[in-house]
Amino acid sequence: MHPESLMMSYGYHPEWSEGAIKCPIFQTSTFVFKTAEEGKAFFELAYGKRYARPGEIPGLIYSRLNNPNMQILEERLCLWDQAEEAAAFESGMSAIATTMLAFLKPGDAIVYGNPVYGGTHHFINHYLISIGVKVLDIHPKQEESEILELIESSGFKDHIRMLYIETPANPTNDLFDIHMVRRIADALQQHSGHTVKVVVDNTYLGPVFQHPLLHGADIVLYSATKYLGGHSDLIAGVVLGSHTDLEQIKHLRTFLGNMISPNTAWLLMRSIETLKIRMERQQKNALQVVDWLLKHPKITRVYYPGLPSQGERQVSIFHRQCVGSGAMISFDISRGESEAFRFLNRLKLIHLAVSLGSNESLAQHPYTMTHSDVPEADKQLHNITPSMIRLSIGIEHHEDLIADLEQALNF
Ligand SMILES: *Cc1c(COP(=O)(O)O)cnc(C)c1O
Repeated sequence: MHPESLMMSYGYHPEWSEGAIKCPIFQTSTFVFKTAEEGKAFFELAYGKRYARPGEIPGLIYSRLNNPNMQILEERLCLWDQAEEAAAFESGMSAIATTMLAFLKPGDAIVYGNPVYGGTHHFINHYLISIGVKVLDIHPKQEESEILELIESSGFKDHIRMLYIETPANPTNDLFDIHMVRRIADALQQHSGHTVKVVVDNTYLGPVFQHPLLHGADIVLYSATKYLGGHSDLIAGVVLGSHTDLEQIKHLRTFLGNMISPNTAWLLMRSIETLKIRMERQQKNALQVVDWLLKHPKITRVYYPGLPSQGERQVSIFHRQCVGSGAMISFDISRGESEAFRFLNRLKLIHLAVSLGSNESLAQHPYTMTHSDVPEADKQLHNITPSMIRLSIGIEHHEDLIADLEQALNF
């Protein structure tokens, strides 16, 4: 069956909870063992002291290790990305930081794609560097050969353990070619003899419009605060991949204690029941808004996946790797910051706020808001100028969204 058919029921049986059709919130810290022998067996499995016997299911012990809401949520999330296993976290940043710490030790190196989410950028360039991890950044306009040369001349080619990208990149909607990143990882792996993980932040298009695991990624992760949550009322994160990789990540999660709470997991289970219809409606609205923006005389450029103005190479990556263009749009307004601010201050239906992916539409100014911390040279390289506005399109009626944009631009 398709994931959207299973989101209401998968992994939960009403007989577990007095026939309740919906999975209740298991708001509990600990679980009662039937016997001391059972408690002993659960711990043997939890600590990996022996393998499970045929038909033996690992029991619930304590909510930092596992909880029914966390487990059912993780099983449902696997369906969208066709992943073997998932781990849910209390935020997108805890999912990202735990994944990096699980695979990177002092002396190792990471190659990451720029632009990248501000929190991720900070974690790599401040925390990872401070513990002795070496760092190299690449950007979407570079060709494969150019990236291989950069790696060659970095001096730490044999220490690279992770290639980390965010695609589409925020806020320019530039795509990274996941197949190309996989090829680079394979070449590095062959050379050094150790594994090199390809990690993709799929927050912008996934899990409906892009499936990185099917294009060569080892690990896909999300800020579930965005489309997965979809209602601007929770903070959460998810990591998906193979059993072996997720075992390593979940092991660290157990000791950092940054797992999702039962209450947030329950909210997310409710959110993902409507994930597909929300994302499809948001994309449909976004396509209408893009068409309208392209014709507006005050708009000098629109950044949206698959648009010819993104460039030929970008369009070809789009057709190979994405099954939709999503609902994140950036555009340039003709006369810079003052006009951009006038427009933002005049919006009535669309809220002036950062974050994205929610059912209500949001607008913000990357240059002075989400990306204000990015060095000026990088801003110029990525076209993040004072003229740029970023929109996250929601599920409102598209005519009302366009009417709001129209009145806000009419000054
Ligand atoms: C928001 C976001 C994050 C961080 O997630 P939080 O849930 O805020 O911790 C990471 N990556 C991307 C692309 C994001 O948009």
